[in-house]
Amino acid sequence: MLITGKTRVCAIIGEPVEHSLSPLMQNAAFQALRIDCVYVPFRVPSSCLRDAVRGFRSQGVLGFNVTIPHKIKIIKYLAELHPLARNIGAVNTVLNTKTGLVGYNTDAMGVIEALRRKRVRLNDSTVTILGAGGAARAIVYALVETAHRIVVLNRTRRKARKLKRDLERRLGRQIEIGDLTRKSLAEALRATDLLINATSIGMNGEDSSLPISQADLQQHLTVLDIAYGRSETELLRKARRSGCRTIGGIEMLLHQGAAAFEIWTGMKAPLTTMRNALACAKPGGGSR
Ligand code: NAP
Repeated sequence: MLITGKTRVCAIIGEPVEHSLSPLMQNAAFQALRIDCVYVPFRVPSSCLRDAVRGFRSQGVLGFNVTIPHKIKIIKYLAELHPLARNIGAVNTVLNTKTGLVGYNTDAMGVIEALRRKRVRLNDSTVTILGAGGAARAIVYALVETAHRIVVLNRTRRKARKLKRDLERRLGRQIEIGDLTRKSLAEALRATDLLINATSIGMNGEDSSLPISQADLQQHLTVLDIAYGRSETELLRKARRSGCRTIGGIEMLLHQGAAAFEIWTGMKAPLTTMRNALACAKPGGGSR
């Protein structure tokens, strides 16, 4: 592709960001629709977030995605929030408008669409979510209306408490919280129908593990691991061996990315092109 002075720029910022398959998917979409735009990953540590955001604004980027660990912190640098992003308390997509940077959340829609496509039944179900970061907030928000019970387990109790306080106030539904320990996870899993990993464990090839044993993963469980990697995550491997239904993070990535593309371009996202681009990367964590 030929990049000229007229080429627009979209980006993804995070730390780490090297694992992201969004550049592959978004660049394929721009090319398919002949949009003169390029999507670039930028490694941005927390200490540089404000400067990076100001730079994007002044350089006139079309928009950008926000990933680990900035989805909550970025809010204070934006001029405006879409109501869904405000309610969730996390932003994963930013549009650069004439009047300023506007924050959106497409993760909520991404997880709903991924579960819908895989025909996962949520009615009357108990959902256990691991993590209390930006993605976990969006997932709780997306599922709380339909699920019977939501349980959030997180390493840092303070962040789980904040998620509970914020979302219970906005949604008027109860969210149960606990520590992410072997004991509390094993206990929660006994009553769980759908387990979702929304921690960042799993995305770096396994440099740390979830405190979960294969014996805790009973066959009746559906397991969604949103932390995709280049190979199947340890959680999905264990779940598959236990006979659970497993869903990788790629389907959610596709749908949150398609929604972001539509916010930036105002055009319908070429879903098949984006799906094929992701399939070419041969990431792990497919589904069965
Ligand atoms: P985030 O806001 O930084 O939150 C990270 C979460 O992971 C926190 O709950 C954190 O716990 C937990 N965590 C990190 N390292 C841990 C460890 N060693 N042990 C236990 N817990 C740990 O990140 P995010 O934006 O929510 O993203 C979380 C993951 O979801 C990332 O892997 C991201 O790539 C993935 N994601 C995928 C999609 C998709 O479309 N497939 C969409 C969004 C996000 P503490 O609170 O204790 O720090």
